Amino acid sequence: MAAPRPLERNVYTQTLDCIHCGLCLSACPTYVVTGRESASPRGRVYLMRGVAEGEIELDPVVASELQLCLGCRACESACPSGVAYGAMLERARESVVDAGLRRGPARWLERWALRHIVPHRRRLHALASLLAVLQRLRLDRLVFRLPLESLRRAGSLLPAVPGRLDRRPLPAFSAAEGERRGRVALFEGCIASELFAAINHATLRVLTRNGFDVVVPRGQTCCGALQAHSGDLSFARKLARENLVAFSARDTAAVDALVVNSAGCGAALRELEQWLPGEGAAVAAKVRDVCEFLDEVGLRPPPHRVAARVCYDDPCHLIHAQGIAAAPRRLLACIEGLELVSHAEPDSCCGAAGTYNLTQPDMSRRILDAKITALEAAAPDIVATGNPGCLLQLQAGFDERELPIRVLHPVELLEAAYR
Ligand code: SF4
Ligand code: SF4
Repeated sequence: MAAPRPLERNVYTQTLDCIHCGLCLSACPTYVVTGRESASPRGRVYLMRGVAEGEIELDPVVASELQLCLGCRACESACPSGVAYGAMLERARESVVDAGLRRGPARWLERWALRHIVPHRRRLHALASLLAVLQRLRLDRLVFRLPLESLRRAGSLLPAVPGRLDRRPLPAFSAAEGERRGRVALFEGCIASELFAAINHATLRVLTRNGFDVVVPRGQTCCGALQAHSGDLSFARKLARENLVAFSARDTAAVDALVVNSAGCGAALRELEQWLPGEGAAVAAKVRDVCEFLDEVGLRPPPHRVAARVCYDDPCHLIHAQGIAAAPRRLLACIEGLELVSHAEPDSCCGAAGTYNLTQPDMSRRILDAKITALEAAAPDIVATGNPGCLLQLQAGFDERELPIRVLHPVELLEAAYR
């Protein structure tokens, strides 16, 4: 057996955890759709190991199987051997990019947007404002005439951009209401702070209503998850370092928790140590998903009824990457009048997966179809889920079938019950 190549030694070592049991196969959406071993977690681990050993060439076929993976990490939940699949995938995708196996205008645009727009709050704000104007003039439909499939798909996913006032930055400090129970820092996110500004404001109000002072550190930036998943690990590390500085500042380091309302960002921040070995552990240890945090500290009973039939849908990066499934359901069950109903596929991926719905539109659509069918059968008024990408993807799926179902974040329902 050839010795593992030094650059991929970590990946090689991690692949050795796989005992080839195959328990992950039925949990993998791309294996379920294709039936191909090479599109399964076990098959991809085999490919990564082969490449690391130098036995398999990192060619376009291998690269396309790695790109077809959603990074949903359902395989990690199913794996009895603790295979760190998500971490390996990030390294392998970096190798795919380094080997020049992702090229073309779509890749160029993705990398450019993830480096030069997404992490820059002002540029993102200006772009959202421009989009809002185009939507008002109904010129946003011109995107459907563009030659890039990924841009057309992005256009079909975009929600109505909230008004400028709703997209105002969160205050740097908000005081607790009632008896003070502690102090937390809030992570704002990047795209979500523009397109889902209401969720950030709802999160802040629910935290203060529950007795917590909330600080919003100004130096924070995008979590880096989208960049890492697209194979740009060096830029993800740069963003991680900026966040590390922002959340290690004196007034922020003293908080009880770093609260995050996006499953993808929460998973990335919780794993800071993986990107910045020896540096990120202290900040990562404070990261809490907003539902997890409120469940841990004990939710103050919301005083108002919310009469709605609600399905909760698990975001992959909450249930599989952070192991959180019960807390959001427990919180929703505290809302009087809210009927919580289950559906057949709560923990399967919706096909959003960062930029996957733009880069792999066919597979993404097939996976979404199964999810929408399962949710439609449960006939909810509202689907609650805690990740911006899932919110966009599910709402687009319902709109396409003209189903009168709204998709909201659990904190928006909690806020409605406090209002
Ligand atoms: S991350 Fe998801 S899509 Fe990728 S191999 Fe694991 S289960 Fe399959
Ligand atoms: S479940 Fe884990 S150990 Fe078993 S084949 Fe899948 S990755 Fe390997």
